[in-house]
Amino acid sequence: MPHDHGHAHIDPNSGDRRVAIAIWANGLLTVAQIVGGIFSGSLALIADALHNFSDMASLVIAFPRAGSRAAQPMSA
Ligand SMILES: [Zn+2]
Repeated sequence: MPHDHGHAHIDPNSGDRRVAIAIWANGLLTVAQIVGGIFSGSLALIADALHNFSDMASLVIAFPRAGSRAAQPMSA
């Protein structure tokens, strides 16, 4: 599902390094938005920070297989 805000979601065929970068970017953005939201009194910033945190969590869950799914066949 596409978002109307600025960050890009990783595509499933990208490598582990790109997923790791996306995890760190979402983590840093989460912290920055929480700090900025508290100082400016913006609930919208804090809400988007939580959204980015959930993005980061889903990338962490997907991380171990993200880079190798396309290259290796499934084995039973
Ligand atoms: Zn998102």
